[in-house]
Amino acid sequence: MEVIETSKKIQQLALHSRAQGEKLVFVPTMGALHRGHLELLSIGKNLGTKLILSIFVNPTQFGPNEDFAKYPRNLPNDLELAKNTGVDIVFTPSVTDIYPPGDQTAVEVGEKSKRLCGTFRPGHFAGVATVVLKLFNIVQPHVAIFGEKDYQQLQIIRQMVADFQMPIDIFGAPTIRENDGLALSSRNKYLSANERAQALAIPKALNAAKFMRQNQGKIAPEQIEISVRSNLLDSGFTNEQIQYASVVDAETLNPITDFSAPARLCVAAYVGKTRLIDNIAL
Ligand code: AMP
Repeated sequence: MEVIETSKKIQQLALHSRAQGEKLVFVPTMGALHRGHLELLSIGKNLGTKLILSIFVNPTQFGPNEDFAKYPRNLPNDLELAKNTGVDIVFTPSVTDIYPPGDQTAVEVGEKSKRLCGTFRPGHFAGVATVVLKLFNIVQPHVAIFGEKDYQQLQIIRQMVADFQMPIDIFGAPTIRENDGLALSSRNKYLSANERAQALAIPKALNAAKFMRQNQGKIAPEQIEISVRSNLLDSGFTNEQIQYASVVDAETLNPITDFSAPARLCVAAYVGKTRLIDNIAL
């Protein structure tokens, strides 16, 4: 496994590999790797011939009062995990490599970035789209893999790739969970034992909603939203802690009033100081 720190070097290598007929598969992450990330890498192993992982905590996707400085970082451990998962190249750029002095271009996906998390994290998805566009240009992948755990992010990347006619296949990978249902996240490290127990109410509420949807033929999206919120409130969440519990169109992310098209239930809530997101297909 090769570790490359500069965009220039990895871009040259990527272009060369492409010319040699290699199929490049790319998994972008912010590190602090867990089983969710490793699942993306394992999927990637079967989708091409060269597996590239990037580890970059992207400053532009964090708000001024968010956790950029204290975001968990553990490169030696990440490299060990990557090696054991069959990664061929790890790209670990510096902030100035990705955002060189004088850099002044950003990209923003329209409507989809304004919904759900976009309401509460202004600028977040512009930061995500910009860094992903840069990474795509640097790494030159044929395929890129993103987790459904960050469902809105996945849909925004799909939109950008379609809008810019980028010749990249986007693969959405299912959410990996702990045995008790909590979605794996690098931010779970922030949770105390009590908070960890409270956080479990989120996947439970998602599963209860899915059950309602499957067993109550005529249920409206709004009734599901009310029930999810009420389950979370019963588990000790306050209304202020629940940023949203929304049933949306699975592709456009627009609010819906019936289940005539595929739908997604998306939740964002604070547990103590930690903001968690999760979602499920309905
Ligand atoms: P992050 O390092 O949090 O930016 O995540 C990097 C990639 O891993 C993103 O595409 C995430 O959606 C994905 N990911 C994070 N957590 C999970 C999970 N529990 N299951 C599947 N994919 C995940």
